[in-house]
Order: sequence, then structure tokens, then C-alpha cells
Amino acid sequence: MKFCDLNKQYNLYQEEIDAAIKKVIANTAFINGPEIKELETQLANYTGVQHALGCASGTDALLIPLIALDIQPGDEIIVPAFTFFATAEIIAHYRAKPVFVDVDPVTFNLDPNKIHKKITSKTKGIIAVSLYGQCAEFDQINEIANQNGLWVIEDGAQSFGAEYKSRKSCSLTKIATTSFFPAKPLGCYGDGGAIFTSDHHIAEKMRIILNHGQEARYKHKFIGINGRLDTMQAAILIVKLKHFTEELKLRNRVAENYTSKLKKIVNTPVVLNHHHSTWAQYTIQVDQRDQLAQYLRENEIPTAIHYPIPLYRQEAFGYLNEDSQEFPVSEELSQKVLSLPMHPFLAEQEITNICNVIKEFYHGK
Ligand SMILES: *Cc1c(COP(=O)(O)O)cnc(C)c1O
Repeated sequence: MKFCDLNKQYNLYQEEIDAAIKKVIANTAFINGPEIKELETQLANYTGVQHALGCASGTDALLIPLIALDIQPGDEIIVPAFTFFATAEIIAHYRAKPVFVDVDPVTFNLDPNKIHKKITSKTKGIIAVSLYGQCAEFDQINEIANQNGLWVIEDGAQSFGAEYKSRKSCSLTKIATTSFFPAKPLGCYGDGGAIFTSDHHIAEKMRIILNHGQEARYKHKFIGINGRLDTMQAAILIVKLKHFTEELKLRNRVAENYTSKLKKIVNTPVVLNHHHSTWAQYTIQVDQRDQLAQYLRENEIPTAIHYPIPLYRQEAFGYLNEDSQEFPVSEELSQKVLSLPMHPFLAEQEITNICNVIKEFYHGK
């Protein structure tokens, strides 16, 4: 059994994917080929924003907006304490300061009630992550930002395709980002990402920045980066996007199946009323987490921990001297979360087997 079975997916779409890759090779337009524009148009239509920009990774997708927003050393940016490292890493590159806020124990997302306390005269913006595929509470977060003159970025690396109050993830904030890392709900065959906005001015600026700040060939308006998406990855994503709506349905079916079998045994994930999750991860909260993971491994069931060390306890952020007592929810989650195998093609029988092994661990055979 695989944690995320990309072979099964490839076998299903093999003809289409192989043809798309061959076409890129025959064209030799490896950089900025026609598939880039085609994908960007489809991504914008899918999410309902004016501009989608392909870029080299989910991390660059976060970095490029910060360059465009002219982040300065000493600026403070609010981020959840419990997320993948990249969300805060890109802030530190500019000697700006990631300011950690604890998360909600039910949704794992930035707790809007804890943001106020962390806003200072140096705060410039909020990066809220839609963790495991469920959007953060963006109505509340945007309102807090508006009241305080801050911008908001959604880190939608795990939530492309999710919905919040009938609106799509990546359309809920001034700027939003996603990742096409292979194991993300919409993944390519290498690194890739995208940025979303309906602000024409900032879209234009970001498009220039992600291509070395070039306004025209060899005419550099800004200090930028090489943050372009490959044509090959765009071609693969165009194929996968065609099947994505169907895959999200299947992911939801897997999640419902898990929950119905596990809800009496462990703490299962909750999707709030006005949300649709992409189920980037199916993450339970359990006691004796490491022992359970070991037991599952012995039964050939892979699991993962997203994430074992909260940001404020990462060595790289040691210079911030954070006090872990300020983040009780993140502390607890880092000790209790366990992600189970999740992909659209997980079979009914596999789910039953996984759930039985978990039941066995807590209640015996
Ligand atoms: C995966 C991920 C990223 C980084 O994406 P890459 O494409 O790997 O650079 C950023 N934020 C979150 C929340 C992620 O899960």
C-alpha cells in the first residue's frame, strides 16, 4: 500500500500524459511554451480570479508576492505556528519577522481570535494556510486585516480546489498561492506552483519578478528571481486538471469512508459546514501516536506526521526565542496528529484494512 499512489493515477491517464509530454519535446518550447498560457487561463477560470501565474514551486509562489509587496527588513508578518516550514521561511529571507499565531484545535488553521494580540506597528500582512485542504476562516481574517491596513495571502498549497462559502480557495484573498508538488491534490511531475490575484497591477509586477524582473528581454525593471513554471509541467497539469473534479469527489468519498469507520475509535478530522475540503491529508489526532504509527508500519500501512515540530521550535527559528507555552494547540497537535494514506484511488478494502488495524491497536483483536 502506498501513502499517495501516483502510479495508479498515471496508469489511468497514461496516454494523455505521454502525448502531452511528447508534444512539448517536439515543440522544444521548454520555457514559456504555449501550455503555460493555456494552463494559466484554465487555473484562473477554475478559481474565478482574473490572473493565475504559473511559477516554479509553491515556495516561490509565496516568495514572489513578498517581493512584489516590497517587504522590508524588520517588517512583521503573521503566520500560523503549525504549518509546513516554507510559509515562514520565505519571510525570513528578507530579514522580515514571521510572527507565529496558534491554530484552531478543530480546523488546524490560524485562529482568528488570536491574531489581534500579535499585531504591532510593524505588522504588514497575514499569511494564512488552508491546512490539509480546508480553507482558513477568511471572512474573519480579511476583516481583521482590513481594520488594521494589512494584506492577506492564502497559502493554498494544500487547498487548491477547496471551497469556502461557495467560493474557491485561491480566490479569497488579495493574493493566493498553491503548490503542484507531486503529492499535493493537484500535482505535477516535479516542482511547480501558481499565484492567484484579481489585482491587475500586482499581477503584472509579479509576472515580471518571476522572470528576473525583466520587463522586456534583457531590460530589468526589478530585482527578481528565476521562478518560472516549466512548459512540461504545465502540459502535465493541463491533463490532470481535466480529471481533477472527479478526483476531488473520490477523495471526499475516501474521507467519508474513513470517518464512518474511525469516528468511534479516534479523533477524526472535521470539515465545517460552509467548507469543502480537498483532503490533501486525512489526519487523525490520537494518543500513543508514535506507537500507533509503528504498529501500522508493521502491518505495511504507511503514515506521515504533518508536522512533528511546530515552527517556533524549529532550530532555524531559534533566534526568535519563542516560548512554546504561547502555542498550546500547536504543541498538542504536533504530538497527536497522524496522516493516513490518502489518494483518490484508495480502495474500499484498503480503507477497511487500515481502520481494522487501528481498531486492533486500541482495542485488541
Ligand atoms: C507544500 C507546501 C508549500 C511549499 O510548496 P513547494 O511546492 O513544495 O515549494 C508551502 N506551504 C504549504 C502549506 C505546503 O504544504
